[in-house]
Amino acid sequence: MAANRTQSPHLPLGDRRDTAFYGQDILEVAQFRRADLSYIFGVAREMREMVERIGSFDLLKGKILASLFYEPSTRTASSFTAAMERLGGSVIPISEVRYSSVSKGESLPDTVRSLECYADVIVLRHPEVGAAKLAARYARKPIINAGDGIGEHPTQALLDLFTIVEESGRVDGLTITLLGDLKNGRTVHSLARLLSMYDVKLNFVSPESLAFPDKILAELDERGIPWEAHRELEEVLPRSDVLYVTRVQKERFDDPDHYARVKDAYVITPEILARARPQMVLMHPLPRVGEISMEVDTDPRAAYFRQMEYGMYVRMALLAMVLGKA
Ligand code: ASP
Repeated sequence: MAANRTQSPHLPLGDRRDTAFYGQDILEVAQFRRADLSYIFGVAREMREMVERIGSFDLLKGKILASLFYEPSTRTASSFTAAMERLGGSVIPISEVRYSSVSKGESLPDTVRSLECYADVIVLRHPEVGAAKLAARYARKPIINAGDGIGEHPTQALLDLFTIVEESGRVDGLTITLLGDLKNGRTVHSLARLLSMYDVKLNFVSPESLAFPDKILAELDERGIPWEAHRELEEVLPRSDVLYVTRVQKERFDDPDHYARVKDAYVITPEILARARPQMVLMHPLPRVGEISMEVDTDPRAAYFRQMEYGMYVRMALLAMVLGKA
């Protein structure tokens, strides 16, 4: 150990600099290659095995995660906390930024430079696009983007892709339909970009005013990914292998009438699901606010709660990797 310390004066004892993603930020899905994804999913499977066998273990003992959330979260915040604690680490939770120095006017760069004095990694959710990149410019410790406004949600996209792999057994060759608020939903922005590394067909179903951003469609064109935009789910449902449903993102609307007009545009019911493939995977990043009726939950195709669990294993893998332990 001492020799290791001598060779790498800035490397904490026991950390391995040669591991994938050691010390790196996780900011956007464009930073990953297909080989990285297979590696992450391999580590996530190992994490699942360990959790199933022993619940928690000490891989990240002594490590501290600062969990800094400027926007509400249930799953992302609690799954990062669960991930850290199952790996034996601990968490500084800051989810009520109004009770922190943020309410005194502290800037994001100062807040992250303060937290990294105490923590080894910072998970950040912020309402502004690009906030995680800004934080990463100032922070010495890894920043993990847990959603930046309508921008990206890379760890969600990784867990979504992991769900598709585990549930369908493959990604290449699939037809994947994204439904709902495709303009404001950051999860679909990240997921479509990640899927464009595979041989997939994408369908986008949304009201006209919530259509998928042209900028990302142009990226798909550049990568040669076939895609179609539709208003009616019926037009693509029977040929979808995965249906990824999203909620209309109320908090991004300036005009309440516009929200009221589109909020119930699509509702998945057992009757609708009867027209889907028997092996289709039905996903949702959650929270749902009416887009999938609860009667659908018992259908074996409903994968959204399993999707949450896959998320913890993926986040365990990411934490172990950026902290040099996987
Ligand atoms: N939980 C996801 C997110 O933070 C999806 C959503 O809020 O609709 O983006």
